[in-house]
Parts: sequence; C-alpha cells; structure tokens
Amino acid sequence: MPKFDKITIPGNGERITWDGDELQIPHHPIIPVIEGDGIGPDIMKATRRVLDAAVEKTYGDSKKLAWMDIYAGESAAAKYDGNYLPDETVQAIEHYHVALKGPLTTPVGGGFRSLNVGLRQIMDLYACVRPVSYFEGVPSPVRKPEKMDVVIFRENTEDVYAGIEWHEGSTEAEKVINFLNNTFGTSIRPDSGIGIKPISVTGTKRLVRMAIQYAIKHKRESVTLVHKGNIMKYTEGAFRDWGYQVAKDEFADQTITEDELWDKFDGNRPEGKIVIKDRIADSMLQQILTRTAEYDVVATPNLNGDYLSDACAAQVGGLGLAPGANIGDKVALFEATHGTAPKYANQDKVNPSSVLLSGVMMLEHLGWQDAADAIVAAVGQTIRQKKVTYDLARLMGDVDPLKTSEFATAIIENL
Ligand code: NAP
Repeated sequence: MPKFDKITIPGNGERITWDGDELQIPHHPIIPVIEGDGIGPDIMKATRRVLDAAVEKTYGDSKKLAWMDIYAGESAAAKYDGNYLPDETVQAIEHYHVALKGPLTTPVGGGFRSLNVGLRQIMDLYACVRPVSYFEGVPSPVRKPEKMDVVIFRENTEDVYAGIEWHEGSTEAEKVINFLNNTFGTSIRPDSGIGIKPISVTGTKRLVRMAIQYAIKHKRESVTLVHKGNIMKYTEGAFRDWGYQVAKDEFADQTITEDELWDKFDGNRPEGKIVIKDRIADSMLQQILTRTAEYDVVATPNLNGDYLSDACAAQVGGLGLAPGANIGDKVALFEATHGTAPKYANQDKVNPSSVLLSGVMMLEHLGWQDAADAIVAAVGQTIRQKKVTYDLARLMGDVDPLKTSEFATAIIENL
C-alpha cells in the first residue's frame, strides 16, 4: 500500500484488485480522478454527478463509486511545489487500476513533454481506445451518420510517435545518416531530419489481442487491421501479418479471415464468428465515409489511429462528444479527447459529454453495463430534446444553450 502525502483515501471505498488474470471489482471501488485544467473542473463536476446518479438509480445502495482526488497539471504544480506530474499520482493510478482524467495543459517551454503522453508511457497504457457512434439529433456533415459505430484500438507506444527523432544538422542525425549511407548504401540527404518508426511483434500482438478480446466480449462482427503495408512492408505490413497471426494462434475458434468468409461461406458470416480483415490506411479513410457500416472494431498502429479517430469523430458531429481511454494490461485511464479550452475555464459553459462518455466506458470496464447503458440512453434523449450546451446549440440553430451544470441536470432527469 503506497503512502500518500497529499492524497486522501476515501474511508467508504475499497480497492480494485488484480488477481493475476483479471480485475476484481468491489461494490464501492475507489476511483482516482484528475479533475484537469481549464474547463476540467466544470466538466468533471458534471460528470461525477451524472455517473453517481446513474449508479444510484441502477443499483440503489448496493454499489457506489468512491472518488479519490489526485493531481496532475496545474492543480499538481500548485500543491506539489511546481511538479506537474507527482510520483504519487502515478502510484495511485497503478495501485487502484482504474482512473478518470480531465484534460491537462501541456506546459509550454523547454524540457516539458506532454503530461498525457507521459502518463501513457510511464504506465505502459498501450491501447488508445476510441468508440465512435452517433447520437440522433447532433448536426453532422454526412447524410447517414447513424451508420457509424466503430471502436478504434490505436497502438499507443510505438511507430513514429515513439519519440526517437533527431533534428537536421544534429550530431545524432549526422551519425545515423552516415551509418546508413555507408553501411547499407542508402542515399539519405545530409540535410535531413531523422525519425525512427519501430513496430514490434510484442506491441502489435498485445494491441490486436485486446481488440479481438473486446470484439468477442461485445459480440462485434469484425476486426479490421488498418495499415500502410503496401509501402512500409516491415513495419506496417508486419503489423498486418502479426495481427492475422494472433487471430489464428489464439482465437481460431472465434474468428475467420475475410478470405475464408468468401471461400467457405459465400460472404455470409457464420453466427458468432468475428471476421478478421485488413485495409490499407488511405483506402480506409475513403471506406469509412462511403461504406461506413462495414466497419466495426479497428486495430491500427499509432499514426493511422490518430488520423482515423478524428476522421470518424468528424463524421458523427465532431470531437466534443468523443470519449477515449488509454488501457494497459492492468491499468486503465479514461479521459476526454479534447483539451483544456482555457478561454472557457470556470464559465460553466462547455459540453461535458466527452469526459462523461469516457466515464461510461469506465463503468463498462467495471462491468457495470446497466448503469453505462442508462447514461447513453439519457444523453441521447437529452440531445433529442434539444437540451444542449453552446457548441451543439449553435450548430442546431434556434436553440438556447444550457450551462454545463444544467445539461448534467437534464441528463439526470432523463435517467
Ligand atoms: P481544445 O482545448 O480541445 O479546444 C479547442 C476548441 O475545441 C475550443 O476552443 C472549443 O471550440 C472546442 N472544445 C474543446 N472542448 C470542448 C468542450 N468540452 N465543449 C465544447 N467545445 C469544446 O484544444 P487547444 O485549444 O488546442 O488546447 C488547449 C490546451 O489543451 C493545450 O494546452 C493542449 O496541450 C491541451 N490539450 C490537452 C489534451 C488532453 O489532456 N488530453 C488534449 C488536447 C489538448 P470553440 O472555440 O469553437 O467553441
């Protein structure tokens, strides 16, 4: 049990534990929460109210979330003598296994890396999971936004995002260029910047495994491996090959490939089987727009996942409603996908849906599916009633915006 300096452990809560195989969820789980900077306090207050109300409405007194405030970003700097990411914050998340997080300011200036990236790397949260689906009534740029219902598993630790880069003219870049040109006969221009793109068997297999497990658990129809393997054969192409290999080696009874679907079953998916298919990334960005309903669970390397997540979110009305989570083997951190929108801080104005729906993912992760479903239904109902915050109100036209807190109250009334 770690000893905390500035974190108060709630007396009424119990710890989520890991039994070596899966999480054990008590009835009053302690949930560490980072409120976040900027609009963080407003959206997190609203989120906690809705999550608490849904849990109470669904389970009465038998279940309750025991929130435990922990600190990162500006709130941490104020409490911990300028430290934006105190060790005990990371220890708390690792010890309690499941946490919720608002947006954090990335301090500008030398030496700071993004706190969000830092949290993911320190705890090896290797999958960025983004479900994208449509809420009726949300203005969208496409004619049939309701066809979108995907869950994207984006690899979080490798690829050109690994942070292995040297700027043009540096000694390191020069050494790497000389080494490659002299040893392998490449012809890299001497005035190049250099970035490295590692994609490993380990990183790929654990990500694809998580995506297939998710598809099985949630009775999804397909897992699509999205890659650019026609060009980058030994990184992106290998991602595809290793992805198919995981399906074959570990999930042979539950999966079939798209080739088998056509060769053996004439295109009719056998009940209960998940189809493993792959698409080249550029084609996928077209297909998700033109054949949206054919895609379900998606697993993809880091950079493709970044582009694809936002493209999908745009199709259903933007990032304001998009939830997300960063998940590792034992630890899961659920978080809003937008930033701190500092110009709206403390105005009780912005849309809390992104962090609220991340909270819904968290309830699903705890196995509290009924409470999660209740919130999704209530959010849908609230939007259909045109009770929305400014961002959606201005797109809907002729709608008076609600404050963040009023929107939360409307959702609670619809539970
Ligand atoms: P941002 O905070 O996401 O805000 C950009 C714009 O998006 C806002 O001005 C607003 O648009 C809209 N928006 C964002 N959240 C909204 C919400 N909840 N409801 C309604 N509208 C919302 O992006 P940014 O201004 O580029 O970044 C600000 C800071 O956030 C930076 O320090 C950045 O590093 C950080 N950041 C953190 C995370 C994270 O913690 N995961 C992610 C991204 C950025 P309108 O102005 O059109 O109303």
